[in-house]
Amino acid sequence: MTRTTTARATGPGDAVVVGGGLAGVTAALSLADSGVRVTLLEGRPRLGGLAFSFRRGELTVDNGQHVYLRCCTAYRWFLERVGGAGLAPLQERLDVPVVDVARPAGRRLGRLRRDPLPVPLHLGRSLTAYPHLTLADRARVGRAAAALYRLDPEDPALDEQDFGSWLASHGQSPRAVEALWDLIGVATLNARAGDVSLALAAMVLRTGLLSEAGAADIGWARVPLGDLHDTLARRAMEAAGVRVVTRARATGLTRREDGRWQVDLTEGADGPGTLAADAVVLAVPPRETHALLPAGAVEDAGRLLEIGHSPILNVHVVYDRTVLDAPFVAGLGTPIQWVFDRTAASGLTEGQYLALSQSAAHEDIDAPVAELRARYLPELEKLLPLTRGARVRDFFVTRERTATFTPAPGVGRLRPGARTRLPGLALAGAWTATGWPATMEGAVRSGLGAADAALTTLGRARHARLDFEPAPAPAASLPGGAA
Ligand SMILES: Cc1cc2nc3c(=O)[nH]c(=O)nc-3n(C[C@H](O)[C@H](O)[C@H](O)COP(=O)(O)OP(=O)(O)OC[C@H]3O[C@@H](n4cnc5c(N)ncnc54)[C@H](O)[C@@H]3O)c2cc1C
Repeated sequence: MTRTTTARATGPGDAVVVGGGLAGVTAALSLADSGVRVTLLEGRPRLGGLAFSFRRGELTVDNGQHVYLRCCTAYRWFLERVGGAGLAPLQERLDVPVVDVARPAGRRLGRLRRDPLPVPLHLGRSLTAYPHLTLADRARVGRAAAALYRLDPEDPALDEQDFGSWLASHGQSPRAVEALWDLIGVATLNARAGDVSLALAAMVLRTGLLSEAGAADIGWARVPLGDLHDTLARRAMEAAGVRVVTRARATGLTRREDGRWQVDLTEGADGPGTLAADAVVLAVPPRETHALLPAGAVEDAGRLLEIGHSPILNVHVVYDRTVLDAPFVAGLGTPIQWVFDRTAASGLTEGQYLALSQSAAHEDIDAPVAELRARYLPELEKLLPLTRGARVRDFFVTRERTATFTPAPGVGRLRPGARTRLPGLALAGAWTATGWPATMEGAVRSGLGAADAALTTLGRARHARLDFEPAPAPAASLPGGAA
């Protein structure tokens, strides 16, 4: 990339996307597909943001296990768009083994799975047979699910309430919260029910469990995340004509007198420089966005700094033999939340590599490795008895302290939309107002929304609506009769 110390025009209808996470990559692809000349700037040497891979000896390690659901239509579009759908397939049908290790009579396996029946019957048999709840709890879960279905996640009043209180007021026992609602909710929302906005919980659980029979079928990458979010994403962008510049950190953003935008860069292979463009998409975390936003770009920009962050810890253990005969398992009665078999995806050829995905990991996130080892290896012995005779060949952890925004009650007020008050400047990121919690789905949706906002300024239309998006409102129904 050639950098100059004066602003460099890149031509009419051009855009700079700042941030090479899923939101930024999506925005860049969407803009380029619509005929815009795009430069994407990423501060790190790689793309993929919070969902990436690195090498450790013979292993390729993901910074954290990522899954998506069949209802994640935007992320599924992303996978198709970069040519990675076949590398991250979905289960044919939801099937989650859940092992309770704390029963006096010994460990017990239950399953959350769906039948090939319409909603809500698809989960009926599984719930009725779920051994980790009493009969009375199972009946009450059904009633709470029906009440959840009647909620409107877009009602701002819901965002002020916490999901835990709502569950308690709908007859859910602490055991039902632990063995069902939190089992799903902690993994998808990165917080326990009592700490979660009812609006976000209702959105996720309604969409995942009650929108369509197959909505909660689980998908995950059978290759390192970096293959999808870096290698394939880069290839797709370059084929679409996007100029991808890594190790380039944006440090300033100003609107020039001629109405174009100027992006300052201080880091990068060629040293400092500036870029000019008609439109800019900021697809960076809230603090970085706040630091770059020109005054007056969004109402009460200070609220961005009030968005909290929640940690996710992954505990990685390599055994000398196979100890888990399923792709994943969830734990009850143990600090272990979810365990995934990473062997094939990591390139390991002997033994088995497990990753423990620990969400809402506030207590563990700063604990020394030795302490985590002393805590988690015995727990693995309870959950997976075959580990008892196995040798641990490697043990390490990955810590993501700002894995997601905190989905606390009131967070909805803090999340800005894609459009800013300044023409040509749009915001993206899983933390923006997508209605979704901090997920890959939210990130991709935000990128599409920001690209649309930028395209409006450029007087262009998106090249195509995607099949999961609602059709635009018919002209006659637009407010004020505007057509
Ligand atoms: C351990 C872990 C597990 C997770 N599990 C799941 C899961 O199972 N399912 C799921 O859907 N989601 C999961 N998530 C959440 C998901 O990864 C994120 O929501 C999503 O990747 C966020 O993408 P983004 O593009 O919005 O932001 P980011 O990924 O944060 O991307 C922002 C990018 O901007 C770059 N940047 C910042 N400042 C600048 C600057 N000034 N100039 C240039 N570049 C800059 C950063 O380097 C970064 O690459 C998980 C996250 C973690 C960390």
